[in-house]
Amino acid sequence: MTAITAARAYLVDIEVETVRTDAVQAFLKQETVFVELDTADGLTGTGYSYTIGTGGRAVLSLLREALLPRLTGQDSRTIEAVWSDLFWSTHATAVGAITSLALAAVDTALWDLRGRRTGEALWQMAGGFRRAVPLYDTEGGWLHLPTSDLVAGAVASQERGLRGVKLKIGKPSLAEDVERLTAVREKVGPDLHIMVDANQSMTAAEAVRRAAAFEPLGLYWLEEPLPADDVSGHVHLARSTSIPVAVGESLYSVGQFRDYLHRGAAGIVQVDAARIGGITPWLKVAHLAEAYNVSVCPHFLMELHVSLAAAVPNGLYVEHIPQLRAVTRTELEVADGMAVASDSPGLGIDWDADAVDDRRVA
Ligand code: MG
Repeated sequence: MTAITAARAYLVDIEVETVRTDAVQAFLKQETVFVELDTADGLTGTGYSYTIGTGGRAVLSLLREALLPRLTGQDSRTIEAVWSDLFWSTHATAVGAITSLALAAVDTALWDLRGRRTGEALWQMAGGFRRAVPLYDTEGGWLHLPTSDLVAGAVASQERGLRGVKLKIGKPSLAEDVERLTAVREKVGPDLHIMVDANQSMTAAEAVRRAAAFEPLGLYWLEEPLPADDVSGHVHLARSTSIPVAVGESLYSVGQFRDYLHRGAAGIVQVDAARIGGITPWLKVAHLAEAYNVSVCPHFLMELHVSLAAAVPNGLYVEHIPQLRAVTRTELEVADGMAVASDSPGLGIDWDADAVDDRRVA
């Protein structure tokens, strides 16, 4: 009765609510790949994955041509077995972003099915540590915004009761980065957590130089200072600064996180459930980080990650970037600066089926 009887995938473009820029790119639309799995007992699980603008059709093609045909007849309860079968069937293109994103769409659908079958919410079935997790805001910190807007955004977040804000860095001159961060710090006072994100734009030498200039500002973390494959550079930087180095949104396997943690190159882990291949490997990374006494602050996808960060004891923060408002019927619940995980069975994302259908492009 729990066998998979049908599997579908489709691509939906979700518009952004505001222009989002960083040191290397602009986020202009979210390509959202949905997977729906039907089972013999009459349930349907919905999973999803995403890109911030390119490659969505490659993910969809891999799903339709290679992955979904393998699912019919498999037991939807054996998530590890299904995940492993799909992963090894795509061995020639793994580890890689397209494959991990495709796996995530299937894996999240399987977890949605599990919760719908048992009546459990994701935050409970994935571990059940606590219901609510602190939220920090990224939406007011984009790189193109003038300093006055950064300051106003940080003040607004503080007044809403949030404990932290993230500001993009990587302006051509160090002085400009320092001027922007200093203006925010002077306005909000010493207690608000200020995270900064360079989106992999620097060399190790430049990151060491900028981090030294940022030291007096009391930053909470320095995110993606270097290209994600430069683990040695991250080791060098981490040893040279007191600011925790945060990485993970551009890593695509558990083993890549192991290398960072083993070498002391990550002070914060930002594993992304879509880019790592789903909830199944996400939890492995979170538990691995716990063994290293490192906190997890997942990248983006707040609607899903609130439940995962709530599931594990080392979930420290959820990132506020509202991107699913146009295609969901209820918004993320926020109370006293904390994001509250849904108690609904499954992933707990209240999709608006008509709004999703309206945006279907493939
Ligand atoms: Mg980032």
